[in-house]
Amino acid sequence: MTPEINHSPSPNWDERPEGCTIDAVIIHYTGMESGEAALDRLCDPDAKVSAHYLIEEDGRLFQMVPEDKRAWHAGVSHWAGRDNLNHTSIGIELVNPGHEFGYRDFSKAQIDTLLAMLKGIASRHSILPSRYLGHSDIAPDRKTDPGERFPWERLAREGFGVWSGVDGRDASPIAQKGDKGPIINKLNKQLGIVGYHVSDTDCFDCSTEYVIRAFQAHWRPETVSGIFDAGTAARLEDITNQMRNTGERL
Ligand SMILES: [Zn+2]
Repeated sequence: MTPEINHSPSPNWDERPEGCTIDAVIIHYTGMESGEAALDRLCDPDAKVSAHYLIEEDGRLFQMVPEDKRAWHAGVSHWAGRDNLNHTSIGIELVNPGHEFGYRDFSKAQIDTLLAMLKGIASRHSILPSRYLGHSDIAPDRKTDPGERFPWERLAREGFGVWSGVDGRDASPIAQKGDKGPIINKLNKQLGIVGYHVSDTDCFDCSTEYVIRAFQAHWRPETVSGIFDAGTAARLEDITNQMRNTGERL
């Protein structure tokens, strides 16, 4: 059933560039102390930020920007060789205080509304499973939302995303910041195949560390350390193969 939509129009949008079609969904958390405060900010002309939708912890859904307009939620972003994901994505904010103000589980009501909404979005736009992403996936050096408590596995089971069922619990370290060599080369290449932007494939630098954190928050939420460990390697191998086999890029 389509959830009831409360309208809270934001002035913070512009036209999508000519020829851009909607093919990705970006999930965020609000990272503020309350949902009202977040809604106020996302509708404040001075803030110059917005999203298409916001979902409160009690499951209420608010629309701020029509889907055919470009909301300003992603900022500087990269995925699978494309920049500026605002052009082609729908942005959804989930109310959660976030890592700064007391990160907590997303409520059942909130995720139920999200899933109902995603069904609607999928009926209106052609969005591949590999295009349901978190803000941290497309801006790993700046963002940590929606974070490791977001139920990516459940979304993927409903057809909204890619998931790996391989055992990822082993946290024995393989590599970390400062390392070089063939393992690092392969690691950076795999991260690139998944879709992440890695600046230098020869070195485990800060950008690799941020990307590992983003990968872990999405696909190996048991341990988000920024260290390349055995569990991360197992999940990354599997996700890389799934992404490679789909053979599609943005
Ligand atoms: Zn965000």
